Amino acid sequence: MKQLSITTAIQVAEYNELSEQDRALVDAAREATHRSYAPYSHFNVGAAIALDNGEIVTGANQENVAYPSGTCAERTACFYAHARYPEARFTTIAIAARGTDGNEVTNPIAPCGACRQALLEYEILAKGNVKVMLIGCNDIYILDSVKSLLPLAFSEF
Ligand SMILES: [Zn+2]
Repeated sequence: MKQLSITTAIQVAEYNELSEQDRALVDAAREATHRSYAPYSHFNVGAAIALDNGEIVTGANQENVAYPSGTCAERTACFYAHARYPEARFTTIAIAARGTDGNEVTNPIAPCGACRQALLEYEILAKGNVKVMLIGCNDIYILDSVKSLLPLAFSEF
């Protein structure tokens, strides 16, 4: 019997260590948290996607009284990005959140399983890695690929 191991490399950076382009994406994700509609969880999430056409598309979680009808920030952003710019490819996604106290989360948050699967679809479409930036108030986790978030992912490609 053999054993396989899967590891995930995560770079941990501070805001001022990022490139100007990445700082702009972090700013956009943080700003998007203010357009969240979260009257039930009071957890405001924002996502910002950089496209290879130079555009940044943002999304925020949108809740509904029928809870499963709501959508996470990451899927709001990626579905809108592809609907708005179907020819563009994703290059980076940044995700930020504010907790129930209204302040940015201390530790970076990561996408839920459904969002990881949705984001993977766009990484496959991009035919290249999509960088992921998970934002906390101090540390920003940087992963070089959506696949890093979803090892052994379901895919027919
Ligand atoms: Zn999600």
